[in-house]
Amino acid sequence: MLNDVVKRKFIEEGWFQTYDGAVMLVGTRCEACNKVFFPRKEVCPDCFDGRLKAVPLSKRGKLHSYTLSFMGLPGMKTPYAVGFIELPERIKLFSVLTDCEPYEKVLKVDMEMEMVIEKIKQDELGNEIVGYKFRPVNKEAKL
Ligand SMILES: [Zn+2]
Repeated sequence: MLNDVVKRKFIEEGWFQTYDGAVMLVGTRCEACNKVFFPRKEVCPDCFDGRLKAVPLSKRGKLHSYTLSFMGLPGMKTPYAVGFIELPERIKLFSVLTDCEPYEKVLKVDMEMEMVIEKIKQDELGNEIVGYKFRPVNKEAKL
């Protein structure tokens, strides 16, 4: 390793914000039409209004759909699951799914999922690159 101190870095700074000590995904809400977007927008893609306000997104949502990916970033174990999480804000977030093996037994459309911050990969300096993933709520209780 080239440096002594391993740092955690967000895969995309603008996606996250700390609210009351908790890391949350942050989107924007259009003040004109009330729709929420992620990642953040400068102008509402729906009504073209420019009054957008940063809002933390819910950490829980429902699994809308999922699939297995057999191709990953270098160093990523395959297959891994990806899917769309439908949040109460009425948006669908694309996410890697974690803590859900065996996939065919654990993953069910409409199941309750929660957001976690986890390592995605390592950069060339040994820094941990972290991002969001979703995992089933109460996985143990359902197996
Ligand atoms: Zn709008």
